[in-house]
Amino acid sequence: MFDTLSDRLTTVLKNLRGKGRLSDADIDATCREIRIALLEADVALPVVRQFIAQVKERAKGAEVSEALNPAQQVVKIVNEELIGILGGETRRLNLAKTAPTVIMLAGLQGAGKTTLAGKLAKFLAGQGHTPLLVACDLQRPNAVNQLQVVGERAGVPVYAPEPGNGVGDPVDVARRAIEEARRAQHDMVLVDTAGRLGVDEELMRQAADIRDAVQPDEILFVVDAMIGQDAVTTAEAFRDGVGFTGVVLTKLDGDARGGAALSVRHVTGQPILFASSGEKLEDFDVFHPDRMASRILGMGDVLSLIEQAEQVFDAKQAEQTAAKIGSGELTLEDFLEQMLAIRKMGPIANLLGMLPGAGQMKDAMAQVDEKHLDRLQAIIRGMTPAERADPKIINASRRLRIANGSGVAVSEINDLVNRFFDARKMMKQMAGRFGL
Ligand code: GDP
Repeated sequence: MFDTLSDRLTTVLKNLRGKGRLSDADIDATCREIRIALLEADVALPVVRQFIAQVKERAKGAEVSEALNPAQQVVKIVNEELIGILGGETRRLNLAKTAPTVIMLAGLQGAGKTTLAGKLAKFLAGQGHTPLLVACDLQRPNAVNQLQVVGERAGVPVYAPEPGNGVGDPVDVARRAIEEARRAQHDMVLVDTAGRLGVDEELMRQAADIRDAVQPDEILFVVDAMIGQDAVTTAEAFRDGVGFTGVVLTKLDGDARGGAALSVRHVTGQPILFASSGEKLEDFDVFHPDRMASRILGMGDVLSLIEQAEQVFDAKQAEQTAAKIGSGELTLEDFLEQMLAIRKMGPIANLLGMLPGAGQMKDAMAQVDEKHLDRLQAIIRGMTPAERADPKIINASRRLRIANGSGVAVSEINDLVNRFFDARKMMKQMAGRFGL
């Protein structure tokens, strides 16, 4: 996502480095390049125009800083303007004064609503809420079933019409779901609605009827970032037909251009609340305009990385591991736990993508072989607890057994064990040097 744009902007801004003073001509040339980069990334024209006008005005204006050189000053302005078009402050969900808070999801078919419903439910449950998912997409065969599967994965109950009762009336289902939420004390209700392949009146009417029946606290418009410029027209149609209070961008993993993300907020005036970046329930994040802007400018998204790490790592366990490293007692069991913890944060390439300068690390990222990590995991799992605790006992016959059990060659076991011993020795030496 944003790779091309990010590369282009980084190059444009890098060219300014080393200039003692920026002439108006320098600024015009830079803005021209930025304009092309944004248009190529599929950002809507009115958004590009306003963005460029702002950057130009501020860069040529009296904004003189003692602390920054002219090039840094332009980077700062571009960064701030990017944050601005992405919505400024991070917007949290509005909660109802009296529970349940009702959140309705609207959008085209295939936008990722049902998937998102599961992600959001899991996210909210993780924050201590007790959400109820509601299946109001009664049009698409299998949609109810799909939500049930998603709900099960997220560990969140699903309210759906009884099977065999005909197609059913989604408005009625929504209304009864709210009653059920009150009765069973769910503090949040997530209503998944039907989409269509294109915008049509019937779709809008049904969504508006559900809206009127359940009076949602939030209506989230779910939009596929891969549909490019169409995202803007679709958003406008939903804004006029149903109205919405916030936007969720999906499939950010798939779109290298990302113009939709940069346009939707500006065009509809509604904030982006969440971003979805994959098919798994974990591929989901609160949308932070400032972090997204620094990612686009190749400044990395270290804050998100830290937050993800905090969610996954257990501080106490980390401390124990550090102590073991210092005393040279690290076991393969510890190693496995650390690997699992890191992998819980998502694919390694995604993690690397959040680091500053990620654009230049693409080759390294391509080389991160998830399959290799899978194999390491399988090998360690194929060992007995005693072998994991004291890898020295892994003799030739044990190596053969482990290799057979985990379906790899004996040479891979040798490699893993040898490298583990080397790493342990090195870590002990380093720990000694740093006084751990
Ligand atoms: P709905 O019709 O709006 O409910 O859309 P679905 O939730 O059924 O999603 C449509 C397809 O997009 C499914 O195959 C999902 O797995 C996929 N999908 C949803 N969100 C994402 C995402 O963030 N990234 C990717 N790559 N695929 C997604």
